[in-house]
Amino acid sequence: MTKKASAIVIGAGIIGASVAYNLSRSLPPPVVIVDMMRAGSGSTAAALGGFRHQFSSRLNVQLSIESIKILERFKDTMGVDPLIRYDGYLFIAHTQPSLTMLRLNAEMQRSLGVPVETYSGEEILRLLPFYDFSDALGGNLCYRDGHALTSAVHQGYLSKAFSLGAQLLENTRVTGVILDEQTIRGVETSLGTIYSDSVVIAAGAYSAGVGRLAGVDIPVTPQPRKILFTRGVPRGLPESFPLIVEVDSTFALGREHNSVFFSNNRWIIQGFDADFPPEYDEQVFTEAIKRLPPLADSPIGYSVRGLYETTPDANPIVSECGIGGLYCCAGFNGHGFMHAPAVGVLMGELVRGEKPHLDISEFSLKRFDGKNEHERLVI
Ligand SMILES: Cc1cc2nc3c(=O)[nH]c(=O)nc-3n(C[C@H](O)[C@H](O)[C@H](O)COP(=O)(O)OP(=O)(O)OC[C@H]3O[C@@H](n4cnc5c(N)ncnc54)[C@H](O)[C@@H]3O)c2cc1C
Repeated sequence: MTKKASAIVIGAGIIGASVAYNLSRSLPPPVVIVDMMRAGSGSTAAALGGFRHQFSSRLNVQLSIESIKILERFKDTMGVDPLIRYDGYLFIAHTQPSLTMLRLNAEMQRSLGVPVETYSGEEILRLLPFYDFSDALGGNLCYRDGHALTSAVHQGYLSKAFSLGAQLLENTRVTGVILDEQTIRGVETSLGTIYSDSVVIAAGAYSAGVGRLAGVDIPVTPQPRKILFTRGVPRGLPESFPLIVEVDSTFALGREHNSVFFSNNRWIIQGFDADFPPEYDEQVFTEAIKRLPPLADSPIGYSVRGLYETTPDANPIVSECGIGGLYCCAGFNGHGFMHAPAVGVLMGELVRGEKPHLDISEFSLKRFDGKNEHERLVI
């Protein structure tokens, strides 16, 4: 086993893969990626590949703009087609405060060049007449939002990193860190010690536990999510339509190939075990039929479950950790796939000691003093 690395990345999900690729481009080999499971089998395995410009925080919109540009060039630069489709995201408000928030978001997003359209309730009903929008006040729609293939992007980053000399250790758990005063010197793993002066924690929902190994408080909490998919699609439904997200109820519904999928994130269960009670399926299916009555004839075919990696303000941690050479890149609150491309670039800059090209101070670990703005568009 490699005993020395130019950098160690803890976690081989979509974030670790992007970080490892960006580090491998500029550091001597090897960058070593360590994962206690198989690469990509954490939250990344559950991600639907959704990407969107529509956030309430300016910095999140900027991350999306940069990430989507990288995804659009991915086939040429990384040799893997991410299968992008621009089916759009439609955010719907049922209350006046939510509508006001959506309108303010649209102004900010447009100021950054994002083509967001605003609609009244009646206009939305005319646009997508198959869905029950009868009590909606209005919504925001962006057709530059869409979906891509998570596994292709993950594979693209890892393969390119390997071609630049990166190494992957799967089924290898990081069990400790080696500190010299307040400077990192490496990690202990279930396979032995690896020395390095740069270590990035990209352990998704498990990042708090990894931080504790170094005595660092990383406030990332696991929050299980479950999405239900029908087998077959009701007759007459358009081939493609935007992912519909109801801001107030958190109910979301979209179409993927031969399925309609939906979830409701009010159903919050805690912990690492994404074992939902049967009532979840029943309640969410009932809600879906209320919006789209023909769904009653399309049985649930399967579901996707996994962990959101949440932080107190729903923004990620892309930051130094107060220990020389130790960094954290985690807590993407369900947006890790879509922000991985830009965040990998930013982590590369941080680890090389450069000034990040975006001001990411609001994603610093030091911010948890209650003053930060909360990201409000979490699905
Ligand atoms: C149902 C669902 C749908 C989603 N849909 C989308 C979507 O459409 N778009 C989007 O952008 N995001 C989506 N997400 C969110 C996205 O999946 C995550 O934000 C993203 O995968 C986080 O990536 P990660 O690399 O940080 O974490 P992970 O993929 O969980 O990777 C972390 C890795 O760290 C490893 N690890 C942990 N502890 C240790 C240790 N001590 N030693 C070694 N390895 C360790 C784990 O084994 C794991 O493989 C969705 C999430 C869920 C649950």
